[in-house]
Amino acid sequence: MIFLDAAATTPVRREVLEAMWPVLTAEFGNPSSHHELGHTAADILANARSRVAKVLGCRASEITFTSGGTEADNLAIKGIALARQAGNPALNRVVISAVEHPAVLESARYLERFHGFALDVVPVDQSGVVTATALRPFLGEKTALVSIMYANNEIGTVQNIRELAELAHQHNIPFHSDAVQAAGWLPLKVNDLSVDALSISGHKLGAPKGCGVAFLKSRTPAEPLIHGGGQERGRRAGTENVAGAVAMAMALELGAASAAPEAERVGVLREEFISHVLASVPNAILTGHRSQRLPSVASFCFPGTSGESVLLELERLGVVCSSGSACAAGSDEPSEVLLAIGLAREIAQTAVRFSFAQGVDAEQVRRAAALVTTAVGRVTSLGAVGGEP
Ligand code: PLP
Repeated sequence: MIFLDAAATTPVRREVLEAMWPVLTAEFGNPSSHHELGHTAADILANARSRVAKVLGCRASEITFTSGGTEADNLAIKGIALARQAGNPALNRVVISAVEHPAVLESARYLERFHGFALDVVPVDQSGVVTATALRPFLGEKTALVSIMYANNEIGTVQNIRELAELAHQHNIPFHSDAVQAAGWLPLKVNDLSVDALSISGHKLGAPKGCGVAFLKSRTPAEPLIHGGGQERGRRAGTENVAGAVAMAMALELGAASAAPEAERVGVLREEFISHVLASVPNAILTGHRSQRLPSVASFCFPGTSGESVLLELERLGVVCSSGSACAAGSDEPSEVLLAIGLAREIAQTAVRFSFAQGVDAEQVRRAAALVTTAVGRVTSLGAVGGEP
């Protein structure tokens, strides 16, 4: 099997599993317990927090461990918007982009439905980029928060986060970014990005599913979503997933250490892959920005097919990929992201995304490119439904 669906998830890295093992077995204490085992667990947790903070270039106290990217997004968006509104009831708008992951979009919609917020959605251009010019008109006195993702999970487009964050700051508005897909590929120092909040998920970079990190800058108010025993400095109650925290620390360190060389190597492979597919599949459309994109994502529409049928044919040929985001898989509705970049519904329904993990085998990527041509050819000759070229 050639696994080209790393944007959906990745296997746990051996080093990560080995780091978790003692925490799950011998050193299994509850960090809140007042005995030696508890103190050891608290020390392990503190150490993991410091290591994550080092990767992000922030203070350990600014790191909250969460159950993943979705929770980190929820905490940043609902937490900051509600806390700011509590301090100033006039703050009742939230700004997001038109290509956000559902974890961001639905958090914002929740604020709209239950807390009287208005939701402002900034349009993107045809390549999925949010420009400063597009964002500017949405930044008003009533805006509680801006949330714009670092890199898109479906089309790989990377945003100019620093520029957008600085623009929000000119209006005294805090800025959150969902960096779930960026982690392991792009620089993550929060000061360089100029963000006030950042979300990361473990399972996209070799940690297990169910662990993540929210960076919340000190003095950025954030209301907790989960109430209870006051863990995580009151920001997220519940007995801590100590092994998950250790996994996050290890996965982020390993990911960051090889991010630059792997981004370069995999970026070259991605270019080869894209060139091959565009040259050999008639009418193939590359979605997302031509160059300002994750090194790990090659996303296409294949008019004249259906994304699902290409996916099935590829799986028969031994290539595993995705027809869009894992969250939208199985849904007949075309992706909101593809509609936001201006694709017609019937074209958007022909989307296929290939995403590579760090360490991906070059030969496998090359073989997969040839198999894409075969798969699309077969599906087209079978007369599958979908947008006409
Ligand atoms: N944000 C983005 C951009 C994602 O791609 C994902 C996962 O697909 C998430 C958030 C959600 O992360 P998790 O699966 O850890 O909840």
